[in-house]
Amino acid sequence: MSNAKIITISLPNPYFEKDNNAYLIDAGELALLDTGIDTPQALSALQQALSKQGYRAEEIKKILLTHKHIDHFGLARRLQELSGAQVYVHGDDHDDVTHFDERYDYINRLYLEKMLLWGIPQQLINLIAIRSKMAKLGRSVPAETLTDDQSVPIGKAELRVVHTPGHTQGSACFVLEDALFTGDHLLPDYTPNIGATEVRVDGMLPKYLNSLEKIRAFSGLRTLPGHGREIASLTERIDTILSHHKEREKRILAILADGKSRTVYEIALALFGKMKEHHALLGAGEAQAHLELLEQQGRVEKREDHRYYRPPRPSTSAT
Ligand SMILES: [Zn+2]
Ligand SMILES: [Zn+2]
Repeated sequence: MSNAKIITISLPNPYFEKDNNAYLIDAGELALLDTGIDTPQALSALQQALSKQGYRAEEIKKILLTHKHIDHFGLARRLQELSGAQVYVHGDDHDDVTHFDERYDYINRLYLEKMLLWGIPQQLINLIAIRSKMAKLGRSVPAETLTDDQSVPIGKAELRVVHTPGHTQGSACFVLEDALFTGDHLLPDYTPNIGATEVRVDGMLPKYLNSLEKIRAFSGLRTLPGHGREIASLTERIDTILSHHKEREKRILAILADGKSRTVYEIALALFGKMKEHHALLGAGEAQAHLELLEQQGRVEKREDHRYYRPPRPSTSAT
């Protein structure tokens, strides 16, 4: 029995990643899942898409956010001002959304510190810093917190929250009738960034891998991501991403096989090739997430200057 109608809306995002998906749910009450960035273009694209289907932004009652990134919550404040909608986001991402304006400079500073630590060249860091100053594409928005397994009524339908930390600490997927909304947790064309997009918390990769397994339970549902087209097979996509991560881990160990130490950035370069602007941050963050896990497992070691190396294998002791 289906009570909810789902409408996919594509919103322009020329700044990073790709266009964003927002999903309008009509179940007698209107809810919007994710909002796109805060630009006049994204707002008017949203309004046009709504009016084509006979809706208005002013009628939206609830806005549910999959996570705290600006391309997913940026427009929430503006939409709330238009409609009075209640905004919801998982508790672990809550404060970064509600205090986005106040924290913007602080978070950017955290990024700068990480980039220095990872050995990204100063010139590239400067470029990334200027770019993020120019592109403040969101505003703080008052929001309610969500918790794992919570149910949120939307008219005649019920939406269930599935906490899936990894891409960010408060990332969540939503289940609504026969659909699973995955935000950036599971994407059709590339592996979501782990390690550069949650700068406040370490150890995101093992969390992410756990959260991937967690959503396996929903295979059979339509899988609707935060960017790109509907994912045809949830299980296949999970397996592909898991094997990408295994492969990347193997390559990192191979890069370090000569016993020499390298910065995170040097390892990212060897993994991904030359990376432009913020891709250097994303690539280095990704490498860092793997290195952190390998270090925990005792397979690589980190020097005081944050360079990683593979310790020589313990020689078989002579009797
Ligand atoms: Zn994201
Ligand atoms: Zn995104």
